[in-house]
Amino acid sequence: MFDTVFEVLFLVGLIIGSVIRALYTTRHKRNRIAEGYETALHGLLLFLASLGLIVIPLFYILTPWLDFADYHLLTGAGWVGVAVFAAALCLLWRSHADLGDNWSPHLEIREEHSLVTQGVFRHIRHPMYAAHWLWGIAQALLLQNWIAGLAMLASFLPLYLWRVRREERMMFEHFGEEYCRYMNQSGRVIPRLWK
Ligand code: SAH
Repeated sequence: MFDTVFEVLFLVGLIIGSVIRALYTTRHKRNRIAEGYETALHGLLLFLASLGLIVIPLFYILTPWLDFADYHLLTGAGWVGVAVFAAALCLLWRSHADLGDNWSPHLEIREEHSLVTQGVFRHIRHPMYAAHWLWGIAQALLLQNWIAGLAMLASFLPLYLWRVRREERMMFEHFGEEYCRYMNQSGRVIPRLWK
């Protein structure tokens, strides 16, 4: 089942990340939605990302079927992967905590929606997406396999490209000048520490 300690640590991280997400998904179900921008394509992209995030890694760890595509990095790279995964999970947790009930797996505005510009959102507009990029890098370092290791980066890229500009347009349409000012003082996924 487990070929390396890094696969065990990846699984632990995957469980922690899933628990964080499950807690906030339960909270999100209580929201009353004022504006929704859901499309079939977005649903498909979310589904593909969940394959790269959960299904393919678990299939790799729990079966020998993908082992033919293994690659081998120095042990140090695996420990860098552990550190990057820990950073991704911290950022995911802090982003959820700061966004609170304004979080949604979809592009939507809830009835009492407020613009969050503090905490991890102070210097970066999409800390949760940044956390997913870090997760993807960690996955490539921890699951040393061309299919399972790269599955997250490959499946998150189309979702990110489709979603990030539409989300910003939606936020601008709803919050107007306030969001424009926020855009000018923050980076998209890389923190803007200078003004
Ligand atoms: N893109 C953000 C949030 C992802 S969750 C991140 O990466 O951290 C997506 C939902 O969050 C969107 O439907 C939108 O309603 C909400 N959202 C995004 N940025 C927000 C902000 N700064 N304040 C309040 N809500 C926000």
